[in-house]
Amino acid sequence: MKILVSNDDGYRAEGLRALAAALTEFGAVTIVAPDRNRSGASNSLTLDVPLRVTRAEENLYYVTGTPTDCVHLAISGLFDFEYDMVVSGINDGANLGDDVLYSGTVAAAMEGRCLGLPAIAVSLCTGAHTGKHFDTAARVARELVGRLLSQRLDAPMILNVNVPDRPYEDLRGGSEGPARLLGGPGGPATGRRLRHRLSGGGRGSCFNHAAAGRPHPPCGARQYRELARRRAVNDTRVSGIGMTSARTRERLVQRLREQGIRDPSVLDQIRSVPRHLFVDEALASRAYEDTALPIGHGQTISQPYIVARMTAALLESGPLFNVLEVGTGCGYQTAVLAPLVDKLYSIERIEPLVERARTRIKELGIKNVRFRHGDGTQGWAAHAPFDGIIVAAAPHAIPEALQQQLAPGGRLVVPVGPEGEQELWRITRRETGLQRERLGAVAFVPLIKGPVSAT
Ligand code: SAH
Repeated sequence: MKILVSNDDGYRAEGLRALAAALTEFGAVTIVAPDRNRSGASNSLTLDVPLRVTRAEENLYYVTGTPTDCVHLAISGLFDFEYDMVVSGINDGANLGDDVLYSGTVAAAMEGRCLGLPAIAVSLCTGAHTGKHFDTAARVARELVGRLLSQRLDAPMILNVNVPDRPYEDLRGGSEGPARLLGGPGGPATGRRLRHRLSGGGRGSCFNHAAAGRPHPPCGARQYRELARRRAVNDTRVSGIGMTSARTRERLVQRLREQGIRDPSVLDQIRSVPRHLFVDEALASRAYEDTALPIGHGQTISQPYIVARMTAALLESGPLFNVLEVGTGCGYQTAVLAPLVDKLYSIERIEPLVERARTRIKELGIKNVRFRHGDGTQGWAAHAPFDGIIVAAAPHAIPEALQQQLAPGGRLVVPVGPEGEQELWRITRRETGLQRERLGAVAFVPLIKGPVSAT
């Protein structure tokens, strides 16, 4: 049993030591805590400056970051073993009501939960005239952890536990005394209640669920940990952590918004498609930068701005049903576009890229795409006409076949021109002929005639 202990009052805090000491009976306890007081840091990862981790003692590390950073680092790479549980605290002060959102103590537990571990935040409801009974809270934490380890858990959750600042013997979570704090038998608690009790809490006087995950069938603590870990591995692969996490993606979305991408469905797709799964693992940390990256075979994954810009340009005048993509590459543009249209046909001239894209798109559960290894300059006559065509490589002149396969009202978005002089065009088939709009300068790999087979 390995328990990670953190807090937001800093690694020197009395409550942290009391908590760690109380939990040693369950196994190895490691403290990874902020180097100073980071109360109110909320659930926030530091991405803009490097973090420094210092080993102060055996099993005690301090970090120049937030409580979230501490838990994130500890679980995702600082150690070569896995933790079973995260316990955060003991905070000097209650974390109830709105404070739950700002609290670094609760945030540390949230991060543990986000990474698939059962997590508990423990706070002592200290006030001006109370005695700082960290020993009381430590004892409650120990009983709670013991109880959680032996109990069947119905759902992954974070427990946000707030302990009155008084001697343990004085606690009256219910009519039977301290045991009621831990949800012991008996009717609804009749003892003293705290003012800001959250909904969905335990039956003790101040024992709340700060958050609960999706329900799953009841199982024992060990099974739960296994399930949670396995699900976390899968979830984390797609949802990402650190430089591939939701926060990093959100920054990219924000940047694209600032650059003029307005279509919410396109921005949603940029947010939700795991671009890091489309590039080599070594480049995953750069996946949410707004740059093109190599995907092998001399090709690149398109820059997110360009993917967003082209997708928005294609969708601007209404929904699309039958769409052709030329130049599948790694399949990232395919994954962004597919959920926004009815059917997507995608052609790529380099065979291994087609196979890889097919696998990834399938992995992501996208089912409305058909791939083909072939020469996209010829279009895909069997499924024409298309009401949308998107081309991810630049021809010197727009291929005749693509224009012919454009349905009435259909839009073709294509970069055109030699290297260094390319421009993005949107061609719309009107009753009166083809309408051409220039959308701005771009840089694409060239559209090359003829397919290449695997060697
Ligand atoms: N949107 C893709 C971009 C890939 S780069 C992505 O995000 O990954 C452009 C791709 O067009 C390359 O994979 C290249 O092999 C392909 N390509 C170039 N000429 C082609 C052609 N004639 N037919 C089909 N694909 C072509």
